[in-house]
Amino acid sequence: MKSLSDLDLQGRRVLVRVDFNVPLDDASGVRRVGDDTRIRESLPTVRALLGAGARPVLMSHLGRPKDGPDPAYSLRPVAAHLGKLLGSPVVFCEATVGDAAQACVEGAPEGAVVVLENTRFLPGETKNDDALARQMAELADVFVSDAFGSVHRAHASTEGVARHVKQKAAGLLLEKEVRFLTRALDHPERPFVAVLGGAKVSDKHGVIEALLVKADRLLVGGAMSYTFLRAQGGATGRSLVEEDRLDWARGVLEKAGHRLWLPTDHVVAEKLDAQAQAETVSGAIPDGKMGLDIGPDTRRRYADAVRAAKTVVWNGPMGVFEMEPFAAGTRAVAQAHAEATEAGALTVVGGGDSVAAINEAGLAERVSHVSTGGGAMLEFVEGKALPGIEVLRGQ
Ligand code: ADP
Ligand code: MG
Repeated sequence: MKSLSDLDLQGRRVLVRVDFNVPLDDASGVRRVGDDTRIRESLPTVRALLGAGARPVLMSHLGRPKDGPDPAYSLRPVAAHLGKLLGSPVVFCEATVGDAAQACVEGAPEGAVVVLENTRFLPGETKNDDALARQMAELADVFVSDAFGSVHRAHASTEGVARHVKQKAAGLLLEKEVRFLTRALDHPERPFVAVLGGAKVSDKHGVIEALLVKADRLLVGGAMSYTFLRAQGGATGRSLVEEDRLDWARGVLEKAGHRLWLPTDHVVAEKLDAQAQAETVSGAIPDGKMGLDIGPDTRRRYADAVRAAKTVVWNGPMGVFEMEPFAAGTRAVAQAHAEATEAGALTVVGGGDSVAAINEAGLAERVSHVSTGGGAMLEFVEGKALPGIEVLRGQ
């Protein structure tokens, strides 16, 4: 993959696929950007392009608009927010491709950053329509991919467009993501500990299988741990168990042996409710109760294992961290990541909810890398070829 520094960018129009798929809140009737992490993560590339004398033209999807243009999914408020963060002019174009977009891009003043309208307003985007990809390519001389969160999708703006430009490169964010993940997965300093949690085994089975081969230890928490516990014959009460994954879970347990750890105590309640009476149980989960967080002994064991690691990859909360009575497990593991990082370990955290949890704990700055890719990071960990990265290779 080429880098920005490999290209001559002076005076060039550079089309950048960024990931501006950010939450918008319209509580006051005016749509505003909520968590702007993804916009801030794009700044190094945008600034590098401006610094090199290029004319950046940014495109992104936002949400899942159903039938064409829908003002609720316009990137206009995102463009305004970008202008504030950059402190320099940003021009928003109401079109994404075609004559109107071309005119808007050409009319933008020197030194301005252009933001095109939502790529998903165009039906060809998710179909990776070749005619649309060509139209996108016509807007620029160079294509830069910096949307790590979208590289697992072969869409016109993430993959197709790159086939129709003469020059293409990875942006600084994409490079950073690939560098950290590759270091952790391909050349881990050991012990290498993987921490896996979250809602479903079925979402993550590929990741579990991949990490099983690479990691020295797999710490399993969250709802997925109950499928494993049940597969071992344990009592799981009303906890979430994926019955159709029990055979698979038995196979994984057999292969993993003592390397896969499961919770030995739990925070349980009668239902998934912040007001429900929460209690700690060791071993069997009583009938009628659900496991909603790892218990204090498990927290201690998992935190110790994380602190002893030289490389840690974490995806998936240890419990229903959105509700205070079930948040301690995730917080303890997040804290252990910060301590491991201080002691010199490489720590990588990814996944939409996991990132929200580490942000909430105020620890995002204290781990080595917080990935901006949810699905993309999981597929990277699985070792799958990501179309938005493959298309940048070999040129
Ligand atoms: P990520 O987005 O980081 O990949 P997931 O989407 O897989 O994580 O899982 C996050 C969700 O899993 C959270 O909404 C959390 O409440 C839920 N969860 C975690 N532990 C449990 C549990 N024991 N029972 C039910 N839901 C759980
Ligand atoms: Mg999630």
